[in-house]
Amino acid sequence: MGFCLFGNAAIGAHYARTRLGAERVLIVDWDVHHGNGTQALVEHTPEIHFVSMHQWPWYPGTGPAEDRGPHGSVWNVPMAAGRSREAYVAAFLSAVDAAVVGFTPDLVLISAGFDSLAGDPLGGFTLELDDVDRLTREMVSRAEQWCGGRLVSTLEGGYAPDRLGEACVVHLGALG
Ligand SMILES: [Zn+2]
Repeated sequence: MGFCLFGNAAIGAHYARTRLGAERVLIVDWDVHHGNGTQALVEHTPEIHFVSMHQWPWYPGTGPAEDRGPHGSVWNVPMAAGRSREAYVAAFLSAVDAAVVGFTPDLVLISAGFDSLAGDPLGGFTLELDDVDRLTREMVSRAEQWCGGRLVSTLEGGYAPDRLGEACVVHLGALG
């Protein structure tokens, strides 16, 4: 719908399954917008689980919690703008943990959108750099438990250039 030319995370998940021997892939998306393109590209493949936390109501208007995809392999987490940082972190991690019940991923992909930081001109979430650090470390820790740490992160949104740069540095540092 205009933000992305390719669905990088979805392409990566399908490539890992068809070419690299992965069976189960988890995609987690903390970009402030619903990962509507990713969901469209993976929701028919139940071996790919997709978690998207996003501002609601907000562009593009998709991703209500009751939209679980045709196989129940999608976890949408719509969240109001302006809530506490901890509310976003807790809701996100709770959905991640729900998405792996009975499903141990071989690979974790992060749709790392930093338009979920406070001050982004296209979003109303309140996350700070410390939250980027925490969310990243939480995902690294889980990937170590699930699949020997196999995790790939893809940059998505972020429309305050200075903040985006800082978030990338923190994120990369926390990835180790
Ligand atoms: Zn976004």
